Amino acid sequence: MTTETTTASTTPETFPFQAETRQLLDLMIHSLYSNKEIFLRELISNASDALDRLRFEALTRPELTEGGGELGIRLEADRERRTLTVHDNGIGMSRQEVIDNIGTIARSGTRELVRRLREAGEEANLERVIGQFGVGFYSSFMVADRVEMVTRRAGEEEATRWASAGDGTFTVEPASRAGRGTSITLHLKPADEEAGLPDFTDEWVLSRVVKRYSDFVAYPIVLPVAREREVEVETAAGEKEKKSETTVEERRLNSQQPLWTRPEAETKPEDYAELYRHLSGDWNEPLERIRVRAEGRIEYQALLFLPSQAPYDLFYVGAKAGLHLYVRRVQIMESCDDLLPHYLRFVKGVVDSPDLPLNVSREMLQHDRQIATIRKGLVKKVLDRLGEMAEKEEEKYLGFWREFGRAIKEGVAEDYDNRDKLLPLLRFASSHDPEKPTGLAAYVERMGADQKEIFYLTAESREQAEASPHLEAFEARGVEVLFFVDPVDELMVQTLSEFDGKRLKSIGKGTVELGSEEERKREKEELETREKEMKPLLDRVQKAVDAEVKWVRLSTRLTASPACLVGAEHDYSPQLEKLLMKGKGGGARQRRILELNPRHPIVEGLARRFAADAEDPAIPRYAELLLGYATLAEGTEVADPARFNASLAALMAEGLGGGGEAAAGEGEAVSSPAP
Ligand code: ADP
Repeated sequence: MTTETTTASTTPETFPFQAETRQLLDLMIHSLYSNKEIFLRELISNASDALDRLRFEALTRPELTEGGGELGIRLEADRERRTLTVHDNGIGMSRQEVIDNIGTIARSGTRELVRRLREAGEEANLERVIGQFGVGFYSSFMVADRVEMVTRRAGEEEATRWASAGDGTFTVEPASRAGRGTSITLHLKPADEEAGLPDFTDEWVLSRVVKRYSDFVAYPIVLPVAREREVEVETAAGEKEKKSETTVEERRLNSQQPLWTRPEAETKPEDYAELYRHLSGDWNEPLERIRVRAEGRIEYQALLFLPSQAPYDLFYVGAKAGLHLYVRRVQIMESCDDLLPHYLRFVKGVVDSPDLPLNVSREMLQHDRQIATIRKGLVKKVLDRLGEMAEKEEEKYLGFWREFGRAIKEGVAEDYDNRDKLLPLLRFASSHDPEKPTGLAAYVERMGADQKEIFYLTAESREQAEASPHLEAFEARGVEVLFFVDPVDELMVQTLSEFDGKRLKSIGKGTVELGSEEERKREKEELETREKEMKPLLDRVQKAVDAEVKWVRLSTRLTASPACLVGAEHDYSPQLEKLLMKGKGGGARQRRILELNPRHPIVEGLARRFAADAEDPAIPRYAELLLGYATLAEGTEVADPARFNASLAALMAEGLGGGGEAAAGEGEAVSSPAP
């Protein structure tokens, strides 16, 4: 490959770095972080990507690869000038691409990175965070005072020179370069082993760092090295004499063989860790590795990784798929989203098949039957492995669940074909155990003989669920309730109405029937009698809270609380309602059902006052307070705080011996329904 570069004589144009980039550079320059050698991995990784891209574009424009020699990466070190240059003959960049890609951080992800880096403040996190967000190029400022780049886009004549000392500005000017590709020259800081700065012009340092981080890179990485050799020469007198001669050899630093093509026995765990880092940009060790080798109707190999931590953007719109597609060891697509369903986008890895055409396009992939076959095979492998983990390695699985549980729930709603494999993967917080989440099968196993349904309660948090009045009767009878504290749980449950023949039932909706057949019958009769007796009071309460409540009735689910709100069987939960109201157009609050506990002293007292004087103005005020109580108990704000407060103040004043009406302030007409 040719790597000669020169600069044409035109005045350079100066640009300021975007604010975020400047902050990032500051962090890099002042970093105390000791593992600075990773800069080389980052530059090589960029070079390798540039070569991949060239190879891909050349599928349709073969002229792009004409000339320029074998595709590869070349390091060049100059001990005297203290420079290290990374050359590649990849796709290169046009002037505009240089300005867009280097110097501005266009991706929102990197902005997020800068925020997190500043928040974390910890050096230890730097490495991980750098990896996760891929700010590769800027890491060169950890080891260099000044960085220059000359690049020429494949198929174009003009080259561009970029330079910066990382001090807030960079310059761009026209340049010339003998062939396509990019050369990045680092003017190295003085070597300082203690500060993580070995001599990066030294052959052995470079070969060690390349071997360590970039051995799997599919292109040769070479370094010209000087070697002394003994040679025999003939003197003028015709005698033979030994003499040492210096020759320059190109030393290849990486072994280059893709990991997934090597037999498992010939691989080391570190190799996988490196490949995973390269593919995912995640510095953490992967949680699990899955090797797939399929022969038969279609042949393919895959090496998949389950990350141990969810990336920050997993649930952002446009989160990218994690699989790279290779055809006959040539990468033809990064983040190929047809190889796995969207809910498995967190799986990272490579798929390599000799049976696909090299020039497949994204559009073709969508309808390709072979891709569909591969996809089916991969989904099965991933879900089977997760199922195994859930069964045999609970701790590890719960770690996975904490990070990726929401994605699996998406799967339950989306992937009907794999339901049997997905349902056993679900985990929920439960009243059974204050810490450990439970699976549905384990819940069913614990169900009592009288219990016909799987009960759940929607809430904003576990604490809120545990404090909910709805739970009272269940706790009293020792019936387990699952807590749905993730907003997607309720959406998921709309497509998951039963498990193992048992209906999933919200204890915040409809009526509750617990106990044996007989008990239920008895309780129902009792309730009907009480309701008949209390009908005039219930009607009076209804009238007072009619704007928000469609029905006031007596409750079977309360033991300690005087009142609670419930929904009708097909109403949204208050949590989902809030979520929906935040969305487009908002929407009105649903009218609810107010349940009163007939055995509670407040309700009993209210019944006595009503019996004494049906027109008592305190009755509608108490109705207002009971509604407010029930509303607050489920974590919702009261609809009209001013009216609630007026009732509260009036009743407090009355209780303390003041004049009720006077203390109620404006004395709002609380007994008439709000407009
Ligand atoms: P990342 O590689 O994660 O995108 P970088 O900051 O390392 O982030 O690089 C920014 C962009 O600059 C790359 O996405 C790529 O478009 C371009 N780039 C960097 N190095 C090269 C190179 N050697 N050849 C071509 N383009 C490059």
